[in-house]
Amino acid sequence: MADAQLRSPLWLVALLGRCPRCGTGGVFAGFLKIKPACSTCGLDLTRADSGDGPAVFVVLIVGAITAFTALWLELTFKPPYWVHAAVLGPMVLGLSLLLLRPLKALMIALQYRHQAGEGRQE
Ligand SMILES: [Zn+2]
Repeated sequence: MADAQLRSPLWLVALLGRCPRCGTGGVFAGFLKIKPACSTCGLDLTRADSGDGPAVFVVLIVGAITAFTALWLELTFKPPYWVHAAVLGPMVLGLSLLLLRPLKALMIALQYRHQAGEGRQE
């Protein structure tokens, strides 16, 4: 089975939330809701299901960044706990919201690229 070709670079499709086939139409109808089809090329996006994949990567990436930032903050400045909460709380929320949408678009583009689907027996 040959891989489906992407017309735009994968990172650009993910970053801008574009259609994995044409690279011009958007895949999002809201913040995270996927459109039923691409408005430009008509690619059926109803089968695009990234599941919990983007959230898992957000947890791993943001968790690692937050843990190292907390360690650095504590070892460098030894601030009171409220400073940790004031710095790390908004950072976790901001990074999570910032990364969730591109990672979802990336997973949908990778599913299209590799023609991922449900497992079936021939
Ligand atoms: Zn398209």
